[in-house]
Amino acid sequence: CGVFGIWGHEKAAELTYYGLHSMQHRGQEGAGIVVSDGSQLKAHKGLGLVNDVFKHANFSTLQGDVAIGHVRYSTQGAKTLENVQPLLFHSQKGSMALAHNGNLVNAYALRSDLEEEGSILQTSSDTEVLAHLIKRNGNEVSEETITEALNQVTGAYAYLILTENQMFVALDPHGIRPLSIGRLGDAYVVASETCAFGQIGAVFEREVLPGELIMIDHGGLISTRFAMREQRKMCAMEYVYLSRPDSDVNHVNVHASRKNMGKELAKEAPSNADIVVGVPDSSTSAAIGYAEESGLPYEMGIIKNRYVGRTFIQPSQELREQGVKMKLSPVRSIIEGKRIVMIDDSIVRGTTSKRIVQMLKKAGAKEVHVRIASPAIQHPCYYGIDMSTREELIAANYELEEISNLIGADSLAYLSEAGMEKAILIDKTIHQGICTACMTGKYPLPVDGPKKPFYPA
Ligand code: 5GP
Ligand code: SF4
Ligand code: MG
Repeated sequence: CGVFGIWGHEKAAELTYYGLHSMQHRGQEGAGIVVSDGSQLKAHKGLGLVNDVFKHANFSTLQGDVAIGHVRYSTQGAKTLENVQPLLFHSQKGSMALAHNGNLVNAYALRSDLEEEGSILQTSSDTEVLAHLIKRNGNEVSEETITEALNQVTGAYAYLILTENQMFVALDPHGIRPLSIGRLGDAYVVASETCAFGQIGAVFEREVLPGELIMIDHGGLISTRFAMREQRKMCAMEYVYLSRPDSDVNHVNVHASRKNMGKELAKEAPSNADIVVGVPDSSTSAAIGYAEESGLPYEMGIIKNRYVGRTFIQPSQELREQGVKMKLSPVRSIIEGKRIVMIDDSIVRGTTSKRIVQMLKKAGAKEVHVRIASPAIQHPCYYGIDMSTREELIAANYELEEISNLIGADSLAYLSEAGMEKAILIDKTIHQGICTACMTGKYPLPVDGPKKPFYPA
C-alpha cells in the first residue's frame, strides 16, 4: 500500500490525488482521500485505480487544507469497499481517519480482545484494530492515546491519522516500511515514497524515524517517540521490486540499488550469452547493471504493454497467468538465434519467469539463462507484502535445479544475500539495514505461527 498526507495547503485533496497517482504501483485495488476543513472530515473512496475512483469526484466538495490518502493492495482482509482506506470513524468527541501501510503481526489476538470487550469491527482489515485501541475507554485522539495504542501493536506499519485539527504520523520501531516527510512551501507533506514529492513539486526533508510519532497542527510539527528506536530493517523488497526507480528509500535511490544488484549478479553468476534482456519494468535497472558489468549488450528483447497493471495484484493463479500473457511481448528480430541472459528482479510463484522463458524460446531464442537480481524467496512475509504462504513460493518447495527445469531455463542463478546487501546499503549504522526475512528466514520481529484469517474473505 501507499500513504500520503498533506498539512496546510488550500488544495490539499487535489495534491493528495496527484501524490496517490504517483504511488499507484503500490496498490491498485482501491484508493481514498479524507480531507479536513478544520471542523469536519469528508471522505471519497472507491475500488479500483486512483483515476477511476476520482474520475467523478467533485473536488469542490472536498474542501480543506489538510488531507490524507491511501492506495490499497490487500495482504489482510477482503477486497471490498469497506476495507478501502482511509478508514473514517465518528464519535461524539470528534472524528478520526486512518491510513496504514503494513501489516500487524498480532492483529488477530488484539481483535479477539477487542471483541471480548464488546467492540464490533466493520472491516476485516487489521487497520481498524488500531483505531479501536486508540478510542478504547472513550479516549480522545491524542499523542498519549496513540502512543498507548501503538505500544500494543506489533508488526510493520506506517500510519497516518487525521482528526479535524491534527495530523499524526507514526512508523514502527524497525522502520520496516518506508515513510518520508517533505515540504511544499509552508505545507508539510508525508508519503510512502519520495516520488510523490517530485510529483507535486515538494522537497524531501527527512525520513520519519523508526519508533517516531509526529504530530502536526497549526502550531507546527512536534516529534516524539513512542518506542525505542531499533536497528533499521527496511523491507528489501522495496528496493528489489516494489518502489519506483526514481524514489529514494531511506536515502538510497531505488534505480541505483537495482543497478548495483545487477552488477553484483554479473560478478556472482556470469553467463555465456550474446545479449542481456530485462523483464520490464521492474528489472530494467538490474539488467542495465548486469550488462554494464558483464560487457554484454543490453537489448530491448521484451516489450511491456503499459496499460496492463501489475500481475501480482490479480487474485487467482489463473488470472495471474492470463495477466502475464497480456502484459509482455517478445521482440523476435532481437531474440531470434541468440543466447539470452534474462534478468528478473525476483521469483515469487514462478509464473512470470516460466511464461517469459517460454515466450523467448517461441520467439527463437537459442538459450535462455535466467539470472535473478535478489535471493530466492523461501519464507512468507508477515509485514505487508503479499507473499503469505509457503505453498505459493516456488523456492520454498523446490531446489535450484528443479526450479530451473520447471521454468524451462538453460540455467538459473540468484543473487546472494551478501550481494544484495552490498548493492543496497551505503553504511551499516543503526540508520541503515534491511529486512531480508522472506529470503533468509531472519525475521526482525517474532511471527507467532501461521497467519489466521479474521473470517473468510
Ligand atoms: P512470480 O510470477 O514469480 O510470482 O512473480 C515474480 C515477478 O513478479 C517479478 O518479476 C516481480 O517483479 C513481480 N512480483 C510479483 N509479485 C510480487 C509480489 O507479491 N511481491 C513482489 N514482491 N513482487 C512481485
Ligand atoms: Fe519485505 Fe521480505 Fe521483510 Fe516482507 S519479509 S518486509 S517482503 S523483506
Ligand atoms: Mg517484474
